[in-house]
Amino acid sequence: MQRKFCSACGGALAPATERHRSQKCKSCGAEHFRNSKPCAGALVVRNGRVLLVRRAIEPFKGHWDTPGGFLHENEHPEVGARREILEETGLHVRLVGLFGIYMDCYGGDDADEWTLNIYYIAEPLDDAEPRAADDASEIGWFAPDALPATMAFKHERQVLDDWRARLRQS
Ligand SMILES: [Zn+2]
Repeated sequence: MQRKFCSACGGALAPATERHRSQKCKSCGAEHFRNSKPCAGALVVRNGRVLLVRRAIEPFKGHWDTPGGFLHENEHPEVGARREILEETGLHVRLVGLFGIYMDCYGGDDADEWTLNIYYIAEPLDDAEPRAADDASEIGWFAPDALPATMAFKHERQVLDDWRARLRQS
């Protein structure tokens, strides 16, 4: 995303170009890098079904979503993924392994805010039933052949397709 003002001095920023991908402050010269924002989440699987949450907030309010979210400053993605899942579902989970990393744009194609989404495979630590909370309004367990037709974020369709493909291979 193109930013207008320098966070160090409030001066105007030169726009980024294909050649100069960072934005330089015209007043103090500070360079502002434009990086993707890191997010972490997991495919929580129990009895062959994956846990999805219905979004209670914009963007994509009302759409199914994988539990996860933006990492805090200095937060390891493993810690962030477990925290987000606990906040949204009340479930304590164990991360079984890294699933993959997916790029996306927060808020859709026009938003121009890139996200780097780190996915784990996880399983609940106990038999507790999840409860929707925080950014989630509903919870569902979905079999690989009965996944929602549409997902909140574009990359999540790919995540679920990859999950299905791996199940077929194993
Ligand atoms: Zn400046």
